Amino acid sequence: MAISKDPVKPSDTLIHKTTNLMQNGLNSHAFGEYGSPNALGDARWTDELILATWYMAETGKVPDDLNYKTGKSGGGFDRLDFKFRSESEWVADPESIVTSIPLNRRNDHRKQLTPSIPIYGGGMSYGSVSVNVMMARAKNAEKWNTYMSTGEGGYPLDLYAHKDHVITQVATGYFGVEEKTIQAAPIVEFKYAQGAKPGLGGHLLASKAGEEVAKMRGSVPFVSLFSPFPFHSTYSVEDHSKHIDWIETVNPDALIAVKVSTPHDVDMVAVGSYYAGAHIIHLDGSYGGTGAAPEIAKKNIAMPIELALPKVHKFLIKEGVRDKITLIASGGVRTADDIAKAIALGADGVVLGTSDLVAMGCTRCGNCEGGPSGRGCPWGLTTTDVELQEWVQQDWAVERLDNYYTAVMWRLKDILSKLGLNDVKELVGRTDLLRYTAGED
Ligand code: SF4
Repeated sequence: MAISKDPVKPSDTLIHKTTNLMQNGLNSHAFGEYGSPNALGDARWTDELILATWYMAETGKVPDDLNYKTGKSGGGFDRLDFKFRSESEWVADPESIVTSIPLNRRNDHRKQLTPSIPIYGGGMSYGSVSVNVMMARAKNAEKWNTYMSTGEGGYPLDLYAHKDHVITQVATGYFGVEEKTIQAAPIVEFKYAQGAKPGLGGHLLASKAGEEVAKMRGSVPFVSLFSPFPFHSTYSVEDHSKHIDWIETVNPDALIAVKVSTPHDVDMVAVGSYYAGAHIIHLDGSYGGTGAAPEIAKKNIAMPIELALPKVHKFLIKEGVRDKITLIASGGVRTADDIAKAIALGADGVVLGTSDLVAMGCTRCGNCEGGPSGRGCPWGLTTTDVELQEWVQQDWAVERLDNYYTAVMWRLKDILSKLGLNDVKELVGRTDLLRYTAGED
């Protein structure tokens, strides 16, 4: 398929889109030559939420006249609200609110890592996204003193410059897993399952496994690559413990994160992971994943994160180990309000993935796996096509992410202030600060 020789850069297009929308107002549905916003998004990522995310990524501020807090799914985070205190009880200086979280609560010999925000970037592999997207996320993670995960696709050389902020993922295909990538990592993440497609493993279609991607994964170009499910070396807590011993032998300082999906017995899995030696349990609920995850799997297999979190949080308390492990949530966390709700439901922090992509221009069109052209994302995000990936330039993408995180952290502190909390850690498990809004609209 030929590329237009006179393309409009995505950045310009997005700025034009957002500016046009802000000038004309969403309610008029004026969207100029770009068509009706009704064509954009879905109930979870509504047109308004996508546009609000673009606005935040462009300006670093929350919009006045777009809903940047919730979607319209009618359930989960969209049915929860906060019980804010009266204004006299708000924290006077929201900027003073502490948002850092410790990741090593085992008090073992490994490093204490304390990201400045309760957010880190979820795994998106080289192959599923372009190297420019990976680099932008790594640079943004460094800016915010947090982390991002490589996903399962290897460790492009340029990432080493930011290695203190890059999590190495080990998944069932072991793609790109090398001694040096484990030694470089402050955190090694075992991906046992993905909330968007538990039991299905990972797959990268041949059209996206170009020369560089194949080289990184030890394969040959344009052959489909599958990560089977499950790890055929791990069927018990003891097997999991052997995995952790392996990493400790290669890198004694690295923290261990365990990414699991949310089946009904996920609470048992979480406790087992703690006893195997994990520092971080990362629960990945059913609404995550890029457009490459099959819809039937996304909506019907794993538990929504809003249900899994309190179940795991309470079980860890009951077992007496909640204060010894960090609980991280992902899979449907879209906004600062979602982040605060996830923490109130029991998480210590969250992982963002899709939100990062939307901030960088994702329209949620669902063509991540290849689309009609087979070349991947038309916006240059989830593609390794040598021409398309040039649509996302690193400096531009870092600026978008930095602005977006600025707006998100402003709103998170705004929520904490209105709840009268001086530290994000005080919000963990405070379901009493949430209310269910069913029947209010
Ligand atoms: S814009 Fe790109 S990243 Fe977003 S859903 Fe479409 S193909 Fe996927």
